[in-house]
Amino acid sequence: MASIQQNIKSFQDELGTEVCLVAVSKTKPESDLLEAYNAGQRVFGENKIQEMTQKQESLPKDIKWHMIGHVQTNKVKYMASYVDLVHAVHKLKLLKELNKRAKEHDRVIDCLLQIKIAEEDTKYGMSKDQAIELLESDTYKNMANVNVKGLMGMATFTDDEAQINREFKFLKALYDELKPVHSFDILSMGMSGDYQIALKHGTNMVRVGSSIFGERNYN
Ligand SMILES: *Cc1c(COP(=O)(O)O)cnc(C)c1O
Repeated sequence: MASIQQNIKSFQDELGTEVCLVAVSKTKPESDLLEAYNAGQRVFGENKIQEMTQKQESLPKDIKWHMIGHVQTNKVKYMASYVDLVHAVHKLKLLKELNKRAKEHDRVIDCLLQIKIAEEDTKYGMSKDQAIELLESDTYKNMANVNVKGLMGMATFTDDEAQINREFKFLKALYDELKPVHSFDILSMGMSGDYQIALKHGTNMVRVGSSIFGERNYN
């Protein structure tokens, strides 16, 4: 098996400078993250706030930490001082809490709205109409400490490429529609199993875990 360092290098070559690689390091030990760091990787994605905060405290300070998982409102305060991008905002209430906590630290937290593109019921996310309603609401417009910079989506976990193509195509079209109005510049779509399809559809941020760090062990 290739080393973490080799995997990072080959993703850097494949993605070039236009597509941001988020190295998804959830469940992985700090030594693995450091190996990726030493290969030049600076953007890491985690899905649990507590785990991310522990890693943030002990690893180099020039790492950009992306929260890619579902966020519970009562845990926002633990990451508000340092988080670089929150990928999965799914309701206005969460954005309000992010705004409040960002303000306490005198900073602006960048966010993405998670759009539900998969048919699976288990995945969170907003509909197109809900996203537009949020972006056009006075409540959001009056928030000075959060900035929605784009959209994130997860395709259905399936071998059916036609379905994944449909879901990514839908998300890209919504992104293109909202981009000029809301000054979007981030479209986060694609993971280990489907990032090549996402690239075809114009993603500019991929979240890759197991293809860099190997399979995860949740025990
Ligand atoms: C775990 C995770 C990933 C990475 O998954 P891999 O299949 O290991 O690349 C990407 N996005 C989200 C939201 C995740 O939770």
